[in-house]
Amino acid sequence: MDAESKISLCQPVKGKGCCACCGLFNCSDISFTGLSHFLLNTTLEMHKQPINLGNPVRDFASLRQRYVFRDHTTFVCPYMGFIDKNTPGCLMHPSVNKGIDGRDYSLYGKEICNDFFCPAYRILDARLQRILIAYTDNWYTYSIGIIDPLSFIWIVKLIEDMAGTAISPENNPADTTLATLINTSLMMLALFFNQLQVPVFFYSEPEYHLHMRLLSLNQNSTHNAKVRVAITQAIDAILNGC
Ligand code: SF4
Ligand code: SF4
Repeated sequence: MDAESKISLCQPVKGKGCCACCGLFNCSDISFTGLSHFLLNTTLEMHKQPINLGNPVRDFASLRQRYVFRDHTTFVCPYMGFIDKNTPGCLMHPSVNKGIDGRDYSLYGKEICNDFFCPAYRILDARLQRILIAYTDNWYTYSIGIIDPLSFIWIVKLIEDMAGTAISPENNPADTTLATLINTSLMMLALFFNQLQVPVFFYSEPEYHLHMRLLSLNQNSTHNAKVRVAITQAIDAILNGC
């Protein structure tokens, strides 16, 4: 899969938007509740003080006074939020911000915001991208699959091996068992990440491979051994109705 993929991983469908490269997963608390709270706050602040009406530009420093971040050198954009009910995205994008493109107010600027493609675009092939979009329940488990695509590939292969069948979102888009298997596995991965106060999103493939090599589930390490076993047991219990 290359970055010219026809599938948009950034905003694939309502409810599955992603803000990982805007810095969302640099928050210390990356639980569903913690990140929902962060996004709700930034959204409410924007609605109270839309910057296109001449209000002060928000900055990373003001966020740092109020939130704890994993890596203090990595930018967290104050302009991400809920662009729709349960859909994270860019509050400065012209499609959201009354036709005005305000992304140049951010550190990155609109060209980088527009043209950046994270490692998931290249690591997940089209079939895996469709599986991630089809079977995740919400933006949160969807984003976990985006930040760690190699773990997502491991989860899909494990489910296919244990179920003895290939996953096909085209033939079975509303398979609730598959959705349960994938969301349960991704939630367990998210819990594992939230217990570690280390960066879990990387902008380039070399950085991603270097820093996640002991955490991503496709590698067996002392760090991830317990969660690999726990996910395997959970999949077995769901498939066998235990
Ligand atoms: S992390 Fe990837 S999928 Fe998410 S918004 Fe950025 S480029 Fe898009
Ligand atoms: S301005 Fe750029 S970095 Fe900030 S939320 Fe929008 S897309 Fe993300």
